[in-house]
Amino acid sequence: MTTAVVVGSGPNGLAAAVHLARHGVDVQVLEAADTIGGGTRSGELTVPGLLHDECSAFHPMGAGSPYLQTLDLGRYGLTWKWPEIDCAHPLDSGEAGLLHRSVAATAAGLGEDGGRWQRMFGGLADGFDDLAADLMRPIANVPRHPLKLASFGPRALLPAAVTARWWRTDKARALFGGAAAHAYYRLDRPATSAVGMMIIAAGHRYGWPVAEGGSQSITGALAAILTDRGGKITTGVHVREWNELPTADVVLLDVAPSAALGILGARLPDRVARAYRRFKHAPAAFKVDFAIEGGVPWADPDCGRAGTVHLGGTFAEIAAAERDVASGRVPQRPFVLVGQQYVADPGRSNGDLHPLYAYAHVPHGYTGDATEAITAQIERFAPGFRDRIVATVSSGPARLAASNPNYVGGDIIGGANTETQVVLRPRIALDPYSTGIPGTYLCSASTPPGAGAHGMCGYNAAQSALRFLRRGGGDVL
Ligand SMILES: Cc1cc2nc3c(=O)[nH]c(=O)nc-3n(C[C@H](O)[C@H](O)[C@H](O)COP(=O)(O)OP(=O)(O)OC[C@H]3O[C@@H](n4cnc5c(N)ncnc54)[C@H](O)[C@@H]3O)c2cc1C
Repeated sequence: MTTAVVVGSGPNGLAAAVHLARHGVDVQVLEAADTIGGGTRSGELTVPGLLHDECSAFHPMGAGSPYLQTLDLGRYGLTWKWPEIDCAHPLDSGEAGLLHRSVAATAAGLGEDGGRWQRMFGGLADGFDDLAADLMRPIANVPRHPLKLASFGPRALLPAAVTARWWRTDKARALFGGAAAHAYYRLDRPATSAVGMMIIAAGHRYGWPVAEGGSQSITGALAAILTDRGGKITTGVHVREWNELPTADVVLLDVAPSAALGILGARLPDRVARAYRRFKHAPAAFKVDFAIEGGVPWADPDCGRAGTVHLGGTFAEIAAAERDVASGRVPQRPFVLVGQQYVADPGRSNGDLHPLYAYAHVPHGYTGDATEAITAQIERFAPGFRDRIVATVSSGPARLAASNPNYVGGDIIGGANTETQVVLRPRIALDPYSTGIPGTYLCSASTPPGAGAHGMCGYNAAQSALRFLRRGGGDVL
């Protein structure tokens, strides 16, 4: 029987493993941590009875993932739950931009920018599935929907700071800016519009759902499919060298390029080793999990109905904070993403005690403590917040990297979204998953289409592995 080893059980490692197993390959997954799931793990981080997401929280790209949609994840325990409002972006004026799943409802709340929002996102949301099918695979492929891509491409390549000028109100600009800030890059750099536009379009198509019972349910479902197909997962095995791997026909690495360098060593062709060494990491996250009595006392009560709340003020303020972070400076008021998963999935709370999730963008490798800066940003838009805090657990870049070796220097998106790396990662190649060693592939978020619990990097890498196996007459379906 044809065999595969997958190193790492994040959503990409498991998506790769499931895809191979569905094609009749005997798959073994090796995971460094004691639990599976990588960036989708969940746990009781603050006080007993409160369920927190350790990393990924909201999943527009998971629900909209072309590969995950082909799997019957519901049968294996995954249920998406939607908040009433996907995302809120409060301003100091006391009002907030609100992202609803419906384009029309979002537009209705944006005053004179409503028509513009509708024109920007109505068509994008309608065509999201076609666009995702092209954008979530390597760029070298012939597009299946060239007209849609041709219409999206020029807009997506603009800096978010240019796209933001399309709107006249602070509310609409900020709502777009908060989404674009997920690029983790200076908003005045080319292609930063792409990330914001895709996350918003995915939201209008699929919402920004959470996984019932924590994001761990996503990889829990993938692992259940895998074991149903005869695959095996072993935890507590940190692979550092090639000779630690069992013999297999193909090897897929759900790891950072720097870890692949260590594991593959001298086997790597020089040009690939050089590219992996040059690979640029993104700024870092500093995460704080809170236990909050009675929820967050938002000045604008609509924020209390939103799953995600973006904090950072106006577009200009967010752009300045992101510029600071990219230049290695700590902004006084960083961009903060707050997650209120419990509004969609109340089972995560214990009575009136709720798990609140927040992280700030900070410089790569930041060693300070951003707990107070994050608390102050929440207090700014929710006076009285401090009085509701029952417990706090902070995780800076070092702690994030210790919990998952893929978070190099606290980079949670698997590599910087520079103009090149946003589409061509981890190196410029027809098959970006190939390590240059026959039958050995990288399948982590450091490959296209990048970060997110969508499994598309794993699926695409597994497709490359299956093509290799078929060329060699491998025993695959
Ligand atoms: C704070 C935070 C918030 C986030 N929010 C969201 C969000 O809301 N929505 C979203 O879609 N995404 C979000 N993400 C990003 C998302 O979690 C990742 O993009 C996604 O998990 C990447 O999947 P992956 O399979 O490539 O890698 P990972 O999920 O990182 O999994 C890699 C796995 O491989 C294991 N591993 C690594 N090296 C080795 C080795 N040498 N030997 C054995 N095992 C190894 C690791 O332990 C890990 O389990 C967030 C991430 C963080 C940290």
